Amino acid sequence: MNASKVVENLKQRFPNEPEYIQAVSQVLVTIEEEYNKHPEFDKANLIERLCIPDRVIEFRVSWVDDKGNVQTNMGYRIQHNNVIGPYKGGLRFHRSVNLGILKFLAFEQTFKNSLTTLPMGGAKGGSDFSPRGKSDAEVMRFCQAFMSELYRHIGPDVDVPAGDIGVGGREIGYLFGQYKKLTHEWSGILTGKGLEYGGSLIRPEATGYGNVYFLCEMLKTRNIDIKGKTILVSGSGNVAQYTTEKCIQLGAKVVTLSDSDGYIYDPNGITSEKLAFVMELKNIERGRIKEYADKFGVKYVSGARPWGEKADIALPSATQNEINGDAAKTLVANGIFAVSEGANMPSTPEAIKIFQNAKILYAPGKAANAGGVSVSGLEMSQNSERLSWSSAQVDKMLHEDIMMNIHENCVKYGTESDGYINYVKGANVAGFMKVAKAMMAQGIV
Ligand code: NDP
Repeated sequence: MNASKVVENLKQRFPNEPEYIQAVSQVLVTIEEEYNKHPEFDKANLIERLCIPDRVIEFRVSWVDDKGNVQTNMGYRIQHNNVIGPYKGGLRFHRSVNLGILKFLAFEQTFKNSLTTLPMGGAKGGSDFSPRGKSDAEVMRFCQAFMSELYRHIGPDVDVPAGDIGVGGREIGYLFGQYKKLTHEWSGILTGKGLEYGGSLIRPEATGYGNVYFLCEMLKTRNIDIKGKTILVSGSGNVAQYTTEKCIQLGAKVVTLSDSDGYIYDPNGITSEKLAFVMELKNIERGRIKEYADKFGVKYVSGARPWGEKADIALPSATQNEINGDAAKTLVANGIFAVSEGANMPSTPEAIKIFQNAKILYAPGKAANAGGVSVSGLEMSQNSERLSWSSAQVDKMLHEDIMMNIHENCVKYGTESDGYINYVKGANVAGFMKVAKAMMAQGIV
Protein backbone atom coordinates (compact mmCIF):
# COMPACT_ATOMS: atom_id res chain seq x y z
CA MET A 1 0.00 0.00 0.00
CA ASN A 2 1.17 3.47 -0.81
CA ALA A 3 -0.69 5.69 1.67
CA SER A 4 -0.45 8.92 -0.32
CA LYS A 5 -1.74 7.22 -3.48
CA VAL A 6 -4.73 5.78 -1.65
CA VAL A 7 -5.51 9.16 -0.10
CA GLU A 8 -5.17 10.91 -3.48
CA ASN A 9 -7.60 8.44 -5.01
CA LEU A 10 -10.12 8.95 -2.20
CA LYS A 11 -9.75 12.73 -2.56
CA GLN A 12 -10.75 12.47 -6.20
CA ARG A 13 -13.72 10.24 -5.45
CA PHE A 14 -14.94 12.29 -2.47
CA PRO A 15 -13.74 15.85 -3.18
CA ASN A 16 -16.24 17.55 -0.86
CA GLU A 17 -15.40 15.60 2.29
CA PRO A 18 -12.22 17.21 3.73
CA GLU A 19 -12.66 15.93 7.31
CA TYR A 20 -13.08 12.36 6.04
CA ILE A 21 -9.93 12.66 3.91
CA GLN A 22 -8.07 14.21 6.88
CA ALA A 23 -8.99 11.31 9.18
CA VAL A 24 -8.19 8.60 6.62
CA SER A 25 -4.88 10.22 5.74
CA GLN A 26 -3.89 10.45 9.40
CA VAL A 27 -4.51 6.75 9.91
CA LEU A 28 -2.97 5.47 6.68
CA VAL A 29 0.42 7.14 7.10
CA THR A 30 0.79 5.59 10.54
CA ILE A 31 -0.26 2.05 9.59
CA GLU A 32 1.52 1.92 6.21
CA GLU A 33 4.65 0.22 7.52
CA GLU A 34 2.78 -2.44 9.50
CA TYR A 35 0.30 -3.02 6.65
CA ASN A 36 3.08 -3.63 4.16
CA LYS A 37 4.46 -6.43 6.33
CA HIS A 38 1.33 -8.36 5.34
CA PRO A 39 1.18 -8.86 1.54
CA GLU A 40 -2.05 -10.83 2.00
CA PHE A 41 -3.77 -7.58 3.05
CA ASP A 42 -2.98 -5.90 -0.24
CA LYS A 43 -4.05 -8.96 -2.23
CA ALA A 44 -7.46 -8.67 -0.59
CA ASN A 45 -7.55 -4.89 -1.24
CA LEU A 46 -8.15 -4.53 2.45
CA ILE A 47 -7.36 -0.86 2.61
CA GLU A 48 -10.02 0.30 0.18
CA ARG A 49 -12.60 -1.94 1.81
CA LEU A 50 -11.66 -0.55 5.20
CA CYS A 51 -11.70 3.14 4.21
CA ILE A 52 -15.03 3.15 2.39
CA PRO A 53 -18.07 2.68 4.64
CA ASP A 54 -20.16 -0.47 4.28
CA ARG A 55 -23.28 1.65 3.88
CA VAL A 56 -24.35 5.30 3.85
CA ILE A 57 -27.99 6.00 4.68
CA GLU A 58 -29.29 9.49 3.94
CA PHE A 59 -32.86 10.61 4.52
CA ARG A 60 -35.21 13.56 4.85
CA VAL A 61 -36.60 14.48 8.28
CA SER A 62 -39.71 16.66 8.25
CA TRP A 63 -41.25 17.98 11.44
CA VAL A 64 -43.55 20.79 12.62
CA ASP A 65 -42.19 23.63 14.75
CA ASP A 66 -44.10 25.41 17.55
CA LYS A 67 -45.44 28.00 15.14
CA GLY A 68 -46.93 25.34 12.88
CA ASN A 69 -44.27 25.69 10.17
CA VAL A 70 -43.02 22.54 8.49
CA GLN A 71 -39.23 22.20 8.79
CA THR A 72 -37.01 19.84 6.84
CA ASN A 73 -33.58 18.58 7.90
CA MET A 74 -31.21 15.93 6.60
CA GLY A 75 -30.69 12.69 8.52
CA TYR A 76 -27.77 10.30 8.13
CA ARG A 77 -26.41 7.00 9.41
CA ILE A 78 -22.99 5.81 8.27
CA GLN A 79 -22.53 2.08 8.94
CA HIS A 80 -18.80 1.92 8.49
CA ASN A 81 -17.63 -1.56 9.46
CA ASN A 82 -19.16 -4.42 11.49
CA VAL A 83 -16.53 -7.16 11.35
CA ILE A 84 -15.92 -7.23 15.11
CA GLY A 85 -19.45 -6.50 16.34
CA PRO A 86 -22.71 -4.65 15.63
CA TYR A 87 -22.32 -1.13 14.24
CA LYS A 88 -21.93 1.28 17.14
CA GLY A 89 -21.40 5.04 17.33
CA GLY A 90 -23.13 8.25 18.32
CA LEU A 91 -25.65 10.58 16.73
CA ARG A 92 -24.68 14.24 16.32
CA PHE A 93 -27.32 16.98 16.02
CA HIS A 94 -25.59 20.23 15.03
CA ARG A 95 -26.04 22.73 12.22
CA SER A 96 -22.53 21.93 10.91
CA VAL A 97 -23.30 18.22 10.33
CA ASN A 98 -22.74 16.93 6.79
CA LEU A 99 -21.83 13.66 5.15
CA GLY A 100 -18.04 14.23 5.24
CA ILE A 101 -18.01 14.97 8.97
CA LEU A 102 -20.06 11.89 9.77
CA LYS A 103 -17.89 9.72 7.50
CA PHE A 104 -14.76 10.89 9.35
CA LEU A 105 -16.40 10.13 12.68
CA ALA A 106 -17.60 6.66 11.58
CA PHE A 107 -14.14 5.80 10.22
CA GLU A 108 -12.48 6.88 13.49
CA GLN A 109 -15.11 5.03 15.50
CA THR A 110 -14.19 1.73 13.84
CA PHE A 111 -10.61 1.94 15.15
CA LYS A 112 -11.65 3.32 18.51
CA ASN A 113 -14.16 0.53 19.08
CA SER A 114 -11.57 -2.03 18.12
CA LEU A 115 -9.21 -0.56 20.74
CA THR A 116 -11.78 -0.82 23.55
CA THR A 117 -11.38 -4.64 23.61
CA LEU A 118 -15.19 -4.95 23.32
CA PRO A 119 -17.01 -6.47 20.31
CA MET A 120 -18.33 -3.35 18.55
CA GLY A 121 -18.16 -2.23 14.92
CA GLY A 122 -18.01 1.43 13.86
CA ALA A 123 -20.82 3.81 12.83
CA LYS A 124 -21.94 7.39 13.22
CA GLY A 125 -25.03 9.38 12.34
CA GLY A 126 -26.92 12.55 12.94
CA SER A 127 -28.58 15.55 11.43
CA ASP A 128 -28.02 19.22 10.59
CA PHE A 129 -30.83 19.95 13.07
CA SER A 130 -29.64 22.04 16.01
CA PRO A 131 -31.43 21.63 19.36
CA ARG A 132 -30.08 25.07 20.33
CA GLY A 133 -32.97 27.53 20.82
CA LYS A 134 -35.63 24.85 20.28
CA SER A 135 -38.36 24.03 22.80
CA ASP A 136 -38.57 20.56 24.38
CA ALA A 137 -41.67 19.89 22.27
CA GLU A 138 -39.80 20.78 19.07
CA VAL A 139 -36.86 18.56 20.03
CA MET A 140 -39.30 15.73 20.75
CA ARG A 141 -41.08 16.08 17.42
CA PHE A 142 -37.76 16.21 15.57
CA CYS A 143 -36.44 13.11 17.37
CA GLN A 144 -39.65 11.22 16.59
CA ALA A 145 -39.46 12.15 12.90
CA PHE A 146 -35.76 11.21 12.78
CA MET A 147 -36.38 7.81 14.38
CA SER A 148 -39.39 7.15 12.14
CA GLU A 149 -36.88 6.65 9.33
CA LEU A 150 -33.82 5.44 11.22
CA TYR A 151 -35.59 2.60 13.03
CA ARG A 152 -35.71 0.39 9.93
CA HIS A 153 -31.90 0.43 9.64
CA ILE A 154 -30.91 -0.34 13.25
CA GLY A 155 -31.44 -3.12 15.83
CA PRO A 156 -29.86 -4.41 19.05
CA ASP A 157 -27.71 -6.88 17.08
CA VAL A 158 -27.42 -4.67 13.98
CA ASP A 159 -26.60 -1.09 14.90
CA VAL A 160 -26.85 0.60 18.30
CA PRO A 161 -26.59 4.42 18.23
CA ALA A 162 -25.70 6.66 21.20
CA GLY A 163 -25.30 10.40 21.88
CA ASP A 164 -22.71 12.90 20.66
CA ILE A 165 -22.77 16.70 20.23
CA GLY A 166 -26.35 17.92 20.67
CA VAL A 167 -27.65 14.48 21.65
CA GLY A 168 -27.82 13.99 25.40
CA GLY A 169 -30.20 12.28 27.81
CA ARG A 170 -33.25 14.24 26.62
CA GLU A 171 -32.78 13.37 22.96
CA ILE A 172 -31.92 9.72 23.67
CA GLY A 173 -35.16 9.44 25.69
CA TYR A 174 -37.31 10.76 22.83
CA LEU A 175 -35.52 8.60 20.25
CA PHE A 176 -35.89 5.51 22.43
CA GLY A 177 -39.60 6.17 23.03
CA GLN A 178 -40.28 6.42 19.30
CA TYR A 179 -38.30 3.26 18.48
CA LYS A 180 -40.27 1.35 21.09
CA LYS A 181 -43.56 2.70 19.75
CA LEU A 182 -42.73 1.76 16.16
CA THR A 183 -41.35 -1.72 16.82
CA HIS A 184 -43.57 -2.70 19.74
CA GLU A 185 -40.55 -4.04 21.60
CA TRP A 186 -38.25 -2.97 24.42
CA SER A 187 -34.65 -3.55 23.49
CA GLY A 188 -31.28 -1.99 24.23
CA ILE A 189 -31.39 -0.15 20.90
CA LEU A 190 -29.68 3.01 22.12
CA THR A 191 -27.05 3.63 24.77
CA GLY A 192 -26.84 6.63 27.06
CA LYS A 193 -30.36 5.84 28.26
CA GLY A 194 -31.75 7.11 31.57
CA LEU A 195 -31.11 4.92 34.61
CA GLU A 196 -34.83 4.24 34.95
CA TYR A 197 -35.01 2.50 31.57
CA GLY A 198 -31.87 0.49 31.04
CA GLY A 199 -29.09 3.08 31.20
CA SER A 200 -25.76 2.28 32.81
CA LEU A 201 -24.29 3.99 35.83
CA ILE A 202 -21.14 5.94 34.85
CA ARG A 203 -22.19 6.28 31.16
CA PRO A 204 -22.60 10.08 31.40
CA GLU A 205 -19.22 10.33 33.16
CA ALA A 206 -17.41 7.77 31.01
CA THR A 207 -15.83 9.86 28.25
CA GLY A 208 -14.53 12.60 30.53
CA TYR A 209 -13.44 10.25 33.32
CA GLY A 210 -11.86 7.89 30.78
CA ASN A 211 -9.86 10.71 29.25
CA VAL A 212 -8.46 11.72 32.63
CA TYR A 213 -7.62 8.07 33.44
CA PHE A 214 -5.76 7.88 30.14
CA LEU A 215 -3.98 11.17 30.86
CA CYS A 216 -2.83 9.83 34.24
CA GLU A 217 -1.38 6.74 32.53
CA MET A 218 0.54 9.00 30.13
CA LEU A 219 1.78 11.17 33.00
CA LYS A 220 2.95 8.04 34.85
CA THR A 221 5.38 7.29 32.00
CA ARG A 222 7.18 10.51 32.99
CA ASN A 223 6.63 10.20 36.75
CA ILE A 224 4.30 13.20 36.82
CA ASP A 225 1.32 13.46 39.18
CA ILE A 226 -1.82 15.24 37.99
CA LYS A 227 -2.31 16.70 41.48
CA GLY A 228 -1.70 20.46 41.53
CA LYS A 229 -1.52 20.79 37.73
CA THR A 230 -3.34 23.58 35.89
CA ILE A 231 -5.57 22.39 33.06
CA LEU A 232 -7.28 23.99 30.05
CA VAL A 233 -10.58 22.33 29.09
CA SER A 234 -12.60 23.42 26.05
CA GLY A 235 -16.33 22.82 25.61
CA SER A 236 -18.86 22.82 28.42
CA GLY A 237 -21.01 19.86 27.39
CA ASN A 238 -21.02 16.27 28.54
CA VAL A 239 -17.34 15.50 27.96
CA ALA A 240 -16.02 18.81 29.33
CA GLN A 241 -18.18 18.60 32.46
CA TYR A 242 -17.05 15.14 33.56
CA THR A 243 -13.46 15.79 32.55
CA THR A 244 -13.55 18.77 34.91
CA GLU A 245 -15.21 16.71 37.66
CA LYS A 246 -12.51 14.01 37.55
CA CYS A 247 -9.71 16.62 37.44
CA ILE A 248 -11.15 18.28 40.56
CA GLN A 249 -11.41 14.89 42.31
CA LEU A 250 -7.74 14.24 41.58
CA GLY A 251 -6.58 17.62 42.89
CA ALA A 252 -5.95 19.40 39.59
CA LYS A 253 -7.10 22.92 38.74
CA VAL A 254 -9.28 23.45 35.64
CA VAL A 255 -9.20 27.12 34.63
CA THR A 256 -11.17 27.28 31.35
CA LEU A 257 -14.40 26.09 29.73
CA SER A 258 -15.95 27.23 26.44
CA ASP A 259 -18.86 26.99 24.05
CA SER A 260 -19.27 27.99 20.44
CA ASP A 261 -19.53 31.66 21.45
CA GLY A 262 -16.36 32.05 23.57
CA TYR A 263 -14.50 30.89 26.69
CA ILE A 264 -14.23 31.70 30.40
CA TYR A 265 -10.97 31.89 32.35
CA ASP A 266 -11.20 31.31 36.10
CA PRO A 267 -7.64 31.61 37.52
CA ASN A 268 -8.71 30.23 40.91
CA GLY A 269 -10.00 27.05 39.32
CA ILE A 270 -13.48 25.66 38.80
CA THR A 271 -14.70 24.18 42.09
CA SER A 272 -17.35 21.47 42.55
CA GLU A 273 -19.90 24.17 43.41
CA LYS A 274 -19.09 26.16 40.27
CA LEU A 275 -19.22 22.97 38.19
CA ALA A 276 -22.70 22.25 39.58
CA PHE A 277 -23.67 25.70 38.29
CA VAL A 278 -22.28 24.82 34.82
CA MET A 279 -24.20 21.52 34.75
CA GLU A 280 -27.47 23.26 35.67
CA LEU A 281 -26.75 26.05 33.15
CA LYS A 282 -25.88 23.74 30.25
CA ASN A 283 -28.04 20.66 30.87
CA ILE A 284 -31.23 22.18 32.28
CA GLU A 285 -31.39 25.87 31.41
CA ARG A 286 -29.45 25.39 28.16
CA GLY A 287 -27.71 28.75 28.61
CA ARG A 288 -24.36 30.14 27.44
CA ILE A 289 -20.98 29.80 29.21
CA LYS A 290 -20.73 33.60 29.39
CA GLU A 291 -23.22 33.41 32.28
CA TYR A 292 -20.46 31.70 34.34
CA ALA A 293 -18.27 34.79 33.90
CA ASP A 294 -21.18 37.07 34.80
CA LYS A 295 -21.99 35.08 37.94
CA PHE A 296 -18.48 34.53 39.28
CA GLY A 297 -16.87 37.75 38.01
CA VAL A 298 -14.15 36.13 35.87
CA LYS A 299 -12.80 36.87 32.39
CA TYR A 300 -14.92 35.99 29.34
CA VAL A 301 -13.43 36.12 25.85
CA SER A 302 -15.98 36.21 23.06
CA GLY A 303 -15.36 34.38 19.76
CA ALA A 304 -12.11 32.76 20.91
CA ARG A 305 -10.76 29.43 22.17
CA PRO A 306 -8.87 28.99 25.44
CA TRP A 307 -5.50 27.84 24.09
CA GLY A 308 -3.66 31.11 24.82
CA GLU A 309 -4.04 30.80 28.61
CA LYS A 310 -1.09 29.51 30.64
CA ALA A 311 -1.36 25.96 32.00
CA ASP A 312 0.34 22.54 32.20
CA ILE A 313 -2.13 20.33 30.36
CA ALA A 314 -4.81 20.80 27.66
CA LEU A 315 -7.89 18.59 27.34
CA PRO A 316 -9.82 19.68 24.22
CA SER A 317 -13.42 18.53 24.68
CA ALA A 318 -15.57 20.51 22.22
CA THR A 319 -15.25 19.66 18.53
CA GLN A 320 -13.02 18.77 15.54
CA ASN A 321 -10.16 21.02 14.39
CA GLU A 322 -10.40 23.31 17.41
CA ILE A 323 -6.58 23.38 17.85
CA ASN A 324 -4.79 24.59 14.72
CA GLY A 325 -1.05 24.97 14.14
CA ASP A 326 -0.89 28.44 15.68
CA ALA A 327 -2.78 27.36 18.78
CA ALA A 328 -0.49 24.33 19.13
CA LYS A 329 2.60 26.57 18.89
CA THR A 330 1.19 28.80 21.61
CA LEU A 331 0.41 25.83 23.85
CA VAL A 332 3.92 24.44 23.49
CA ALA A 333 5.53 27.88 23.97
CA ASN A 334 3.49 28.29 27.16
CA GLY A 335 4.94 25.08 28.57
CA ILE A 336 2.05 22.64 28.10
CA PHE A 337 3.46 19.12 28.48
CA ALA A 338 0.39 16.97 27.80
CA VAL A 339 -2.60 17.11 25.45
CA SER A 340 -5.24 14.41 25.70
CA GLU A 341 -8.25 14.59 23.40
CA GLY A 342 -11.76 14.26 24.81
CA ALA A 343 -13.22 15.47 21.51
CA ASN A 344 -12.86 13.65 18.20
CA MET A 345 -10.00 14.99 16.02
CA PRO A 346 -9.76 18.36 17.81
CA SER A 347 -6.16 18.86 16.64
CA THR A 348 -5.36 19.59 13.00
CA PRO A 349 -2.53 17.60 11.34
CA GLU A 350 -0.22 20.66 11.75
CA ALA A 351 -1.02 20.84 15.46
CA ILE A 352 -0.26 17.14 15.93
CA LYS A 353 3.09 17.56 14.19
CA ILE A 354 3.98 20.43 16.51
CA PHE A 355 3.08 18.40 19.62
CA GLN A 356 5.05 15.39 18.44
CA ASN A 357 8.09 17.40 17.35
CA ALA A 358 8.12 19.03 20.79
CA LYS A 359 7.95 15.47 22.25
CA ILE A 360 5.12 16.36 24.58
CA LEU A 361 2.62 13.70 25.67
CA TYR A 362 -0.11 13.71 23.04
CA ALA A 363 -3.07 11.29 22.92
CA PRO A 364 -5.50 11.20 19.98
CA GLY A 365 -9.22 11.03 20.67
CA LYS A 366 -9.65 7.51 19.39
CA ALA A 367 -7.59 6.28 22.36
CA ALA A 368 -8.23 8.93 25.00
CA ASN A 369 -12.00 9.34 24.59
CA ALA A 370 -12.80 5.66 24.04
CA GLY A 371 -14.22 5.41 27.57
CA GLY A 372 -17.60 6.69 26.37
CA VAL A 373 -18.25 4.02 23.80
CA SER A 374 -16.73 1.42 26.12
CA VAL A 375 -19.32 2.06 28.80
CA SER A 376 -21.93 2.08 26.04
CA GLY A 377 -20.69 -1.44 25.29
CA LEU A 378 -21.09 -2.29 28.96
CA GLU A 379 -24.62 -0.83 28.85
CA MET A 380 -25.41 -3.23 25.97
CA SER A 381 -24.09 -6.16 28.04
CA GLN A 382 -26.24 -5.14 31.02
CA ASN A 383 -29.33 -4.81 28.79
CA SER A 384 -28.74 -8.29 27.34
CA GLU A 385 -28.30 -9.74 30.83
CA ARG A 386 -31.32 -7.78 32.14
CA LEU A 387 -29.10 -6.68 35.03
CA SER A 388 -27.57 -3.41 36.27
CA TRP A 389 -24.04 -3.22 37.57
CA SER A 390 -22.93 -0.91 40.39
CA SER A 391 -21.11 2.38 39.82
CA ALA A 392 -17.96 1.02 41.42
CA GLN A 393 -18.00 -2.04 39.17
CA VAL A 394 -18.46 -0.05 35.95
CA ASP A 395 -15.92 2.60 36.95
CA LYS A 396 -13.34 -0.07 37.77
CA MET A 397 -13.87 -1.76 34.39
CA LEU A 398 -13.60 1.59 32.64
CA HIS A 399 -10.41 2.51 34.47
CA GLU A 400 -8.51 -0.73 34.88
CA ASP A 401 -9.81 -3.08 32.18
CA ILE A 402 -10.35 -0.57 29.41
CA MET A 403 -8.40 2.72 29.64
CA MET A 404 -5.26 1.14 31.12
CA ASN A 405 -5.42 -1.59 28.51
CA ILE A 406 -5.76 0.92 25.65
CA HIS A 407 -2.77 2.81 27.04
CA GLU A 408 -0.73 -0.39 27.20
CA ASN A 409 -1.58 -1.17 23.57
CA CYS A 410 -0.53 2.33 22.49
CA VAL A 411 2.80 1.87 24.26
CA LYS A 412 3.25 -1.56 22.67
CA TYR A 413 2.67 -0.40 19.10
CA GLY A 414 3.76 3.24 19.38
CA THR A 415 7.08 3.32 21.24
CA GLU A 416 9.80 4.72 18.97
CA SER A 417 13.52 3.96 19.01
CA ASP A 418 14.31 7.00 21.21
CA GLY A 419 11.66 5.92 23.73
CA TYR A 420 9.09 8.56 22.71
CA ILE A 421 5.59 7.09 22.71
CA ASN A 422 3.80 7.97 19.48
CA TYR A 423 0.24 7.46 20.72
CA VAL A 424 -1.21 8.21 17.28
CA LYS A 425 0.72 5.38 15.69
CA GLY A 426 0.13 3.09 18.66
CA ALA A 427 -3.63 3.60 18.63
CA ASN A 428 -3.95 3.33 14.86
CA VAL A 429 -1.87 0.19 14.49
CA ALA A 430 -3.47 -1.58 17.47
CA GLY A 431 -6.99 -0.68 16.32
CA PHE A 432 -6.26 -1.56 12.70
CA MET A 433 -4.67 -4.98 13.26
CA LYS A 434 -7.73 -6.41 15.00
CA VAL A 435 -10.14 -5.16 12.35
CA ALA A 436 -7.82 -6.31 9.54
CA LYS A 437 -7.49 -9.84 10.92
CA ALA A 438 -11.26 -10.11 11.33
CA MET A 439 -11.82 -8.87 7.77
CA MET A 440 -9.33 -11.38 6.40
CA ALA A 441 -11.06 -14.20 8.28
CA GLN A 442 -14.47 -13.25 6.92
CA GLY A 443 -13.58 -13.16 3.22
CA ILE A 444 -14.57 -10.68 0.53
CA VAL A 445 -18.10 -9.66 1.51
P1 NDP B 1 -22.10 18.33 23.89
O1 NDP B 1 -23.12 18.68 22.86
O2 NDP B 1 -22.56 17.88 25.23
O3 NDP B 1 -21.09 19.53 24.09
C1 NDP B 1 -20.37 20.05 23.02
C2 NDP B 1 -19.62 21.27 23.49
O4 NDP B 1 -18.75 21.72 22.47
C3 NDP B 1 -20.55 22.43 23.79
O5 NDP B 1 -19.98 23.22 24.81
C4 NDP B 1 -20.58 23.17 22.45
O6 NDP B 1 -20.92 24.53 22.56
C5 NDP B 1 -19.14 23.03 22.03
N1 NDP B 1 -19.05 23.09 20.57
C6 NDP B 1 -19.72 22.36 19.66
N2 NDP B 1 -19.40 22.73 18.41
C7 NDP B 1 -18.50 23.73 18.55
C8 NDP B 1 -17.78 24.52 17.62
N3 NDP B 1 -17.93 24.38 16.32
N4 NDP B 1 -16.91 25.46 18.14
C9 NDP B 1 -16.77 25.63 19.47
N5 NDP B 1 -17.42 24.89 20.39
C10 NDP B 1 -18.27 23.96 19.93
O7 NDP B 1 -21.18 17.21 23.19
P2 NDP B 1 -20.17 16.19 23.89
O8 NDP B 1 -19.57 16.80 25.10
O9 NDP B 1 -20.85 14.89 23.98
O10 NDP B 1 -19.06 16.04 22.74
C11 NDP B 1 -17.88 16.85 22.69
C12 NDP B 1 -16.83 16.17 21.83
O11 NDP B 1 -16.51 14.90 22.40
C13 NDP B 1 -17.24 15.88 20.39
O12 NDP B 1 -16.11 15.98 19.55
C14 NDP B 1 -17.68 14.42 20.45
O13 NDP B 1 -17.61 13.79 19.19
C15 NDP B 1 -16.67 13.87 21.42
N6 NDP B 1 -17.04 12.62 22.08
C16 NDP B 1 -18.16 12.54 22.84
C17 NDP B 1 -18.48 11.36 23.46
C18 NDP B 1 -19.64 11.23 24.40
O14 NDP B 1 -19.73 10.19 25.05
N7 NDP B 1 -20.51 12.20 24.52
C19 NDP B 1 -17.65 10.14 23.27
C20 NDP B 1 -16.43 10.38 22.53
C21 NDP B 1 -16.16 11.57 21.95
P3 NDP B 1 -22.43 25.02 22.27
O15 NDP B 1 -23.18 24.76 23.51
O16 NDP B 1 -22.27 26.47 21.95
O17 NDP B 1 -22.93 24.23 21.09
